[in-house]
This record gives sequence, structure tokens and C-alpha cells, in this order.
Amino acid sequence: MSKPVVTSVNPASGEALQTFTPHGSAEVDAAIERADEAFRTWRLTSFTERSRLMHKAADILDARKEAFARTMTMEMGKPLSEAVAEVEKCALVCRHYADHAEDYLRDEVIETEASQSFVRNLPMGPVLAVMPWNFPFWQVFRFAAPTLMAGNVGLLKHASNVWGSALNIAKVFREAGFPEGCFQTLLIGSKAVEGVIRDARVKAVTLTGSGPAGRSVAMIAGEELKPSLLELGGSDAFIVMPSADLGKAVETAVKSRTRNNGQSCIAAKRFLVHTDVYDAFTQAFVARIEALRVGDPLLEETDIGPLATEAIRDELAGQVEATLKGGAKRISKLAKLPGKGWWFAPQVLAEAPDGTPGAEQEMFGPVANLWRVSSLDDAIARANRSDFGLGSAIFTQDAAEIAQAVRDIEAGSTFVNALVASDPRLPFGGVKQSGYGRELAADGIKAFVNRKTVSIS
Ligand code: NAP
Repeated sequence: MSKPVVTSVNPASGEALQTFTPHGSAEVDAAIERADEAFRTWRLTSFTERSRLMHKAADILDARKEAFARTMTMEMGKPLSEAVAEVEKCALVCRHYADHAEDYLRDEVIETEASQSFVRNLPMGPVLAVMPWNFPFWQVFRFAAPTLMAGNVGLLKHASNVWGSALNIAKVFREAGFPEGCFQTLLIGSKAVEGVIRDARVKAVTLTGSGPAGRSVAMIAGEELKPSLLELGGSDAFIVMPSADLGKAVETAVKSRTRNNGQSCIAAKRFLVHTDVYDAFTQAFVARIEALRVGDPLLEETDIGPLATEAIRDELAGQVEATLKGGAKRISKLAKLPGKGWWFAPQVLAEAPDGTPGAEQEMFGPVANLWRVSSLDDAIARANRSDFGLGSAIFTQDAAEIAQAVRDIEAGSTFVNALVASDPRLPFGGVKQSGYGRELAADGIKAFVNRKTVSIS
């Protein structure tokens, strides 16, 4: 019987790129064994040694960014310039944790009657990361850099359409000199994830992806009483108030909604614009969306490439159709699209009624939903009507409005007069259906450590 294969497809052409043979259960078992063995010695290494290797990984990323970026673009369609920037950001997160891990994990002294009492952050062991295709490098590195610097070891199960990138990532750590077993890519489908989580040698799991995948992983981890961290979808609100710098608001709105071909968890997806500036904002926003250049993601002049898979394209088309049928209006003209491949024209929908996908669901592509609001109370009430709570943005110069937005918007972050973006120095994560736990900064490296209390009398 021939072995099963997984074929990656170029979304810009619909043509096959490369085939991979998935790992069988014996190979997965051997990888977990290598991880378990590697952990025994890796956990004893010094921060200086880990930092040296992590800086090397960053140098390799910088030196080979064009090649890694090209594979990402070929596998999932993001504009090449954005893919290069993604690899550069991975180098940044490696250097951030190489330079700060020791500080983040330093003993925390707490005065008691004992002669010494403190919290020590100790590594836990092999951690499984189930990752999505939309930022094939960044999602993995923001997990891998803190995990390895904390003294844990990593097992990656990447999305099945980006296995070329998954193998490239494992290569970076190997070539940087990390010992065998410290970071490995498992070429497995989603059905094989359960067995890995339940394996006694695997101590924790993190997932970035959709709600159904998160729920499944969290349930299995719960049954096994293993820590889990979930970074799930989002339908971020973007509020524009009368005092906003409209030029900046429009520019940020376009960037937020369309970067990565509109397939970002923290993209602004629901635009809530005060009636006093609604017409001016909308006119400029629609003009900018209509001017986006859709085409070959390998070309420098391209703003928007194809969606990552045919199924994603079809799902988004269905959501838009149902939203229009439900009473929303399309208020932008559609771009002409290339023939083959999984293309979708950037567009703006207005006043999607409650109950339609535009109002209720995450739209994972370049579709903006816009509503006119009468006040900040109105905007925040609508922002919070979503099941999601990942990021949020407000454009205003009014200090009272800023304070109210920070206090009342139900989200893992609120950015004021700025693009919602992840940053190695700032914690990142969501509330509600957007998941739990925090990545990046000190929170990220403490996600998977045993915070051991030590009391010496
Ligand atoms: P997805 O279908 O959930 O896939 C994500 C990963 O989970 C893939 O590796 C996938 O493997 C695996 N998976 C799927 N179903 C699973 C299951 N039942 N059990 C275990 N693993 C499973 O999500 P996606 O469509 O690739 O990614 C888009 C979603 O990710 C969006 O909702 C987006 O908002 C979210 N996201 C969130 C963040 C954040 O930081 N909060 C960042 C980026 C993306 P296969 O590919 O083999 O199916």
C-alpha cells in the first residue's frame, strides 16, 4: 500500500507545490522520546548558553529571510514584502528573549518568617504547539523563543498547508546549534494531535487557531490536567470618534483590515464610526480599499494576494453573500481578479444587521464591515456584542473617551490612535471566545513554567 501524502498548493495558481509524507505513530513516538531526552539536559543549561544559541537562530533568520519568506508566500499567498518583514520580526523575538529571559525568570523574593522564601521559575518539559498557517513563522517563533529560553523543549504541529515552512523552522534551530530534540516538527494532521497531548512525556499544549480546534485541544488537555494556552479568532472593533485624526484613522484602518490579505486574527474587522465623521471617514476608506492592487504576491507592487486555500475563499464568499442577503449594503467597487487561484476582492459592507455573519462571525479575508454609531456608549455596546475579545482600537483625542474605552471594551488589548499589533515587549492574548493565557513579554515566558515556591527555614 502506498504511503499517504500531503500536498501543498500555491494559492495564487491552484497548482501543487510539494508533497510530504506525514509521520506515522512510530516516528511521532521517537520524536517525543527525543524531546523527553533532550529536556533532561537542556533544562540544566545556563541562560548564557541558551542566549548564545538563540542569537544564532536570529542571525540565521536575518541571513536567509528572502528564502524563508518565499516559501511562505508560495504556500499561503501573503505578499512577499510582508513575509520578509515577518521573518525579521521572528529574529527580533529571538533576540528579545535571548536578552531578557534571565530577567523575566529571576527568582522572586517574598519576605516571610523563613530565612529565605522565593518563587523560582522552573521549566516543565516538552510543550506541544499547534499552529496556524496565516503567519507561518511568527506564530511559531513567538512560542518557540520563550519556550526554549525557559528551558523547555518544543514540538511543533503546523497547519497542513505550510509544512515547507514548518521544516524550515526546525532547520533554523538545528543549524543554530540547539541540541537534537530541543525543537522538532511533527508532520501530522489534526487527528493525531490528541495522542500527542495525552502522551505522559508531553507536559503542556498551546494552540493558535480557530475556536473548534481550540475547544478540542483544551478539552483533551483538561482531561489530562495539563496546562493549555489558546490564541483563537477575533473580530476586533475599530472605533472612530469626532476628534480623531481622520487621515491617520483611515490609513490605519486600511492597513489593519488588509495586511496579510485580510487573514490576521488581530485585524480590525468591525468599524464603528461616529455619525459626525462617518461620511468623511467612509469616503476616504472606500477609496483606499478600491485602490488596492490585487495580484501576484511575489511582485513588489502587490497589496493583496490570494486567500490561503480554496475552502477559506469559499467560506468567506458564503459569509459575504449571507450578510448581503441579510440586509447589508456593499459600498465599494470590486477589483478585477486574476483567473486561477483563490482570489477575493477587497470590499466594504455597511450596516450588516445583527444575526448576519458580518455582525456575528470572524471574516477571515479583506472584507470590512462598517456601522454608523451615535456615541461612544453606542460604539462600545456594539463592540462588546461580539463573542470575540482579542484586540480593539479607538481613534480619538479625548482623554475621557480613552479612559472609557480602556475600561469598558471587552478585549485582550486596546490600542489608542494606533494599529493593533503584537510586540515582543507587550503581552498578547484574548478574552471571551478569543482564548485565554498570554504570549510574549514576561507573561509569555511564564506561561509554561513551574512557579515553584521555595521556603527555607
Ligand atoms: P484551524 O483550522 O483551527 O487550524 C489551526 C491549527 O490547528 C492547524 O495546525 C490545524 O491542523 C490544527 N487543528 C485543526 N483542527 C484541530 C483539532 N480538532 N484538533 C487539533 N488540532 C486541530 O485554524 P486556521 O484556519 O488554520 O487559522 C485561522 C484561525 O486562527 C482564525 O480564526 C484566526 O483568527 C486564528 N488565529 C488566532 C491568532 C491569535 O493569536 N489569537 C493568531 C493567528 C490566527 P490542520 O491544518 O492539519 O487541520
